[in-house]
Amino acid sequence: MTLHQNLINGEWAGGDAIPNINPSNTNDVVGQYARATAEDTLSAIAAAKAAFPAWSRSGILERHAILRKTADEITARKDELGRLLSREEGKTLPEGIGETLRAAQVFDFFAGEVLRLAGEVLPSARPNIGIEITREPVGVVGIITPWNFPIAIPAWKIAPALAYGNTVVFKPAELVPGCSWAIVDILHRAGLPKGVLNLVMGKGSVVGQTILDSADVNAITFTGSVGTGKRVAAASVEHMRKFQLEMGGKNPFVVLDDADLNVAVEAAVNSGFFSTGQRCTASSRIIVTEGIHDRFVAAMTERLKSVVVDDALKAGTHIGPVVDASQLKQDEDYIAIGQKEGAKLAFGGERLTRDNPGFYLQPTLFTEATNQMRISREEIFGPVASVIRVRDYDEALHTANDTPFGLSSGIATTSLKYATHFKRNAEAGMVMVNLPTAGVDFHVPFGGRKGSSYGPREQGKYAAEFYTILKTAYTLA
Ligand code: ADP
Repeated sequence: MTLHQNLINGEWAGGDAIPNINPSNTNDVVGQYARATAEDTLSAIAAAKAAFPAWSRSGILERHAILRKTADEITARKDELGRLLSREEGKTLPEGIGETLRAAQVFDFFAGEVLRLAGEVLPSARPNIGIEITREPVGVVGIITPWNFPIAIPAWKIAPALAYGNTVVFKPAELVPGCSWAIVDILHRAGLPKGVLNLVMGKGSVVGQTILDSADVNAITFTGSVGTGKRVAAASVEHMRKFQLEMGGKNPFVVLDDADLNVAVEAAVNSGFFSTGQRCTASSRIIVTEGIHDRFVAAMTERLKSVVVDDALKAGTHIGPVVDASQLKQDEDYIAIGQKEGAKLAFGGERLTRDNPGFYLQPTLFTEATNQMRISREEIFGPVASVIRVRDYDEALHTANDTPFGLSSGIATTSLKYATHFKRNAEAGMVMVNLPTAGVDFHVPFGGRKGSSYGPREQGKYAAEFYTILKTAYTLA
């Protein structure tokens, strides 16, 4: 089996290999991927630093063409890359192909943004002086990504970093190096000069930590756990560098008495369980008012019976496996904690056996949960959701906001009054009305509040806030 190597200063470089295992079938090795050392990572940072002056002044047509070519190749290979994604991460094939197309859309969008980079010209408060406000690239950007969106998250960080003239040291999650390797290979062949994009696969504690500790990294964009996010923050403050964090969620989905029951159930099932609940925008707190509570719970449990959990690549699978053994253990630990805390296990909770050995878990629904239980306060990151019963809209809104997180917040209602009030008062970066809490567009801001996120928003034209720095120039006429 060929070894997929790291890309450092335009050269593919070796390292000890680890297997990339398919969570739907642990006998299936997706590929061998090299692990970078701390020295490799320092070489990658040095290469990115050396490449920065030329790349930051490169022509907009060169950058546009490389990003467009990348979008085109990803689109042309959507079935193959989508399959690779499903094989290494475990989301279903339609989800894998959809995410791959999303990555292509992101590269296409930022190819366009290269051509739209504009500044401002203003008169000065003083006579005969002109003012120009321009955006400049930040320098070397460290990109650290998680395993749950193996192609979309790398795309939405790499594309704007390159579009705005930065150079990159990219460290993907150890569990899913395949899609990251593939997009770096595509960008490399699309004509990126050496050193502009460096790939260093490997351990967080080695590769990631070396990026955090380097004085030559000018900005870090990170998506992952709260614990690692805090490390990124502390190290970045130490170096006085820009940083951007996307971390956890404990997203609420409110169901009011006047909700359309079908809309509410479909959105709650999608939010809670699709992609195996392994989305930071997944909803694990379903907050339901008294008048609809029993009907909603009955419809949810009925609907969950028809959800098919199986091999991610199999036609008809709705939910693939959990990503690996340690995540499965975490999910099961929380299922035990929920029961001990007094929540009622209304559906699921059991491991499943399928044709191939994999990490299969039933979608799991708790009822009679309170918002104070650990299963309501801590991110589980699996197919586990709880129903919390509340009196009325006011208590629902209060409960929705009573969390350390603030990424996405959803409501099912047919009332314009409540929908409008909720949009204004939900303490979250994204609000969804009659829609799942997960599922976002690529051309608009993505990000949260409170413990979910830190720094400027990602995606769309707002990405420029992080990947550029402003300069204000005064000229005597
Ligand atoms: P998850 O629970 O999603 O795996 P992590 O925060 O552990 O969340 O991982 C997100 C990314 O951060 C991964 O690429 C991981 O390798 C990386 N990472 C983990 N530890 C560190 C660290 N000490 N320094 C930098 N990056 C790290």
